[in-house]
Amino acid sequence: MKIHAFAALKPKGSLQPFDYDVKELGPKEVLIKVSHCGICHSDVHLLDGDWGKDIFPLVPGHEVVGTVEKLGDEIKYWKKGQRVGVGWQCGSCFACEWCNKGEENLCSGSKATCRGHHGGFAERVVVDGRFAFPLPEELDSAKAAPLLCGGITVYSPLRRLGGAVPKRVGVVGIGGLGHFALQFGRAMGHEVTAFSTSPAKEAEAQRLGAHRFVLTNDKKAMKAAKGSLDLIVSTVNVHQDWNVFIDILRPNGTLCTVGALPGDMSVSPTALLVDQKSVAGSVIGGRPMIGEMLSFAGRHNVGAQAEIVPLSRVNEVIDKVRRGKARYRIVLACE
Ligand SMILES: [Zn+2]
Ligand SMILES: [Zn+2]
Repeated sequence: MKIHAFAALKPKGSLQPFDYDVKELGPKEVLIKVSHCGICHSDVHLLDGDWGKDIFPLVPGHEVVGTVEKLGDEIKYWKKGQRVGVGWQCGSCFACEWCNKGEENLCSGSKATCRGHHGGFAERVVVDGRFAFPLPEELDSAKAAPLLCGGITVYSPLRRLGGAVPKRVGVVGIGGLGHFALQFGRAMGHEVTAFSTSPAKEAEAQRLGAHRFVLTNDKKAMKAAKGSLDLIVSTVNVHQDWNVFIDILRPNGTLCTVGALPGDMSVSPTALLVDQKSVAGSVIGGRPMIGEMLSFAGRHNVGAQAEIVPLSRVNEVIDKVRRGKARYRIVLACE
């Protein structure tokens, strides 16, 4: 079977129509007819060759929503026509300590949907059925697609580090990831503070769920926020004065980065040990967490604020994501 997709043939190359052959489905694989695929910043990193130059031809796309069209022999739990989503990960070893605990995102045998595997900028995609997730009926397909990577990226640290009792949570950066973090944080019952360099984002941040808004370049306001938050989730990919954010934490507080920051993060160890503060990282989520996130999003009406664009216009919108101009996500309509 031939799959029609869009691929870049070399780093920084534009995407062009690209066909590839799929032989028989493996016993645990599913063929998904893609209806929507979000564009994530990681797709841009892959396309630009930032994460390897040996991955071309590259069919990006790891925020996939579509319907099950064909099932491998051992996949008994899906029905044809069922709506499912696929995120960054499309395979793991299913035998290690982390897989056994449902933290497949930490498996050293993890496989990515669009790195060494053809992704979702396509009319169809083949993945391990164990990494396809049913979507709650309430979720609109276009609004749901970016949840599969962008959504889980912030949902997981909010759940793991936020704990069961609502806390005081900060979100740094009100972009593709931050706009999910504000919605999820509010719906989880946290008191949410948005941090941004742009005063124009204040009304938007409040509409998305922020109780408070702090301009990160307003030194007075940052000082006033000192000792006020239990958890700060930073979604930005440019370095901040991290010690200022450590100061904003309360005792036992955590600063968690989910942005792929270049270089090193500079933090004063003394500032950490006084009041037992931590710096953490977080990467997508395991299968149980993704399932939970999708049903939570369905119940609380959390979704992407997204511009929907036909797959044929992928090149112009990739550049918009590259320049950080998407408000807040761009989703390709693939059929
Ligand atoms: Zn992503
Ligand atoms: Zn494993």
